[in-house]
Amino acid sequence: MCHQTSIFCINMSISATTHNRVCNPPSSNFLFSPLQTCSKSLRFQPNNRLTARYLKAFRAPMACESPPLPGPESSPMNLADVFFKQIEGAAPPTVADRNSKITVVGVGNVGMAIAQTILTQDLTDELSLVDIQPDKLRGEMLDLQHAAAFLPRTKISASTDYAVTAGSDVCVITAGARQREGESRLALVERNFNLFHSIVPELVKYSPDAILLVVSNPVDVLTYITWKLSGFPANRVVGSGTNLDSSRFRFTIADHLDVNAQDVQAYIVGEHGDSSVALWSTITVGGVPITSFLEKEQIAYEKETLETVHRAVVNSAYEVIRLKGYTSWAIGYSAASLVRSLMRDQRRIHPVSVLAKGFYGIEDEVFLSLPAQLGRGGVLAVANIPFTDEEAERLQMSARTIVDVQKQLGV
Ligand code: NAD
Repeated sequence: MCHQTSIFCINMSISATTHNRVCNPPSSNFLFSPLQTCSKSLRFQPNNRLTARYLKAFRAPMACESPPLPGPESSPMNLADVFFKQIEGAAPPTVADRNSKITVVGVGNVGMAIAQTILTQDLTDELSLVDIQPDKLRGEMLDLQHAAAFLPRTKISASTDYAVTAGSDVCVITAGARQREGESRLALVERNFNLFHSIVPELVKYSPDAILLVVSNPVDVLTYITWKLSGFPANRVVGSGTNLDSSRFRFTIADHLDVNAQDVQAYIVGEHGDSSVALWSTITVGGVPITSFLEKEQIAYEKETLETVHRAVVNSAYEVIRLKGYTSWAIGYSAASLVRSLMRDQRRIHPVSVLAKGFYGIEDEVFLSLPAQLGRGGVLAVANIPFTDEEAERLQMSARTIVDVQKQLGV
């Protein structure tokens, strides 16, 4: 209960949030009145803003949005007005035209790894999270917000309602079922296909100018579905594709040569999955083309050896899933690297899932990974890398694998 002195009231309110003391049990009605009663007398107490924040958080029913801090108009307790004093002759603060905003749909292992990498890399002013599980969603939001003291300032909000995503620049879709041990990515498709009908139109409604970045698997088919459902131009729909596979490939080669993976340029293209294609002919280490180097030095290598390396790269995802149940950190960094290229107009070349019709002999409407240049406009272009005939043929086979699935789905 709120007593005579304001300090007493503040302290008891805070302790109620942490210890549930009798003073302020977590009942919204009970809490509401003491706060109202106290607010006038508390006006200039140093921690009353904090108190109000805690109390508001308690009062909020199941809302996943951040507990709103009392603003200048909404609250009688405006400590900020007291804490800060304007310098003499200052003009009113300039309001930035608009903040940058990223949405992550799905706060599972992958979504949260992406969200936290986006935060640590300071890629946005606002981050909104969406999921269908309100408790998990709110828990994840609070957990990230509690790291505020260690991170660049980012407004984090979360809701099951897509209104929270309004005005996003990039929407990352990670929602959906994940692969079970031994399950191929394509087998996931029907489980995730229906979800996208409830996700994509909502994102489009609230962020009609966004770039949609699909991560959920099977990523190539779902990127195609996203493109169809969104009605967006193809440059604004992209799948994370083989960006991660290529990173695994670069790691494997770098590990073999004991060099930094960032000095290895190597692409895996095609389907993010079993039919992907390793572009051996284009691998360079420190600018040196690897296969021609081996040939020049007359170092014999078996084609089968190269295939074994590629297979190991493809299987490494399954191994991680077998060992820890899911993959998260590498896809977190991989997707964040794509978000950085998009948001910061980096014009870097990433192997990502793009509309491949017209490239390398592919005639179908299909999304698969090609080395694409990413910038603020989305997919700016596809790099014209010379493939060998065999690589082009394998890429076309990979395209057919994906088209077959699309046909089975009737899309
Ligand atoms: P997870 O089960 O941990 O999380 C999935 C989340 O999606 C859950 O929180 C769930 O509540 C949410 N969700 C389900 N339906 C939803 C809906 N309609 N709207 C909003 N949210 C919804 O799974 P995960 O490990 O995070 O994996 C997510 C996806 O990412 C899977 O499809 C997985 O295969 C894929 N993935 C892709 C790559 C890649 O390189 N492209 C890498 C790893 C994982």
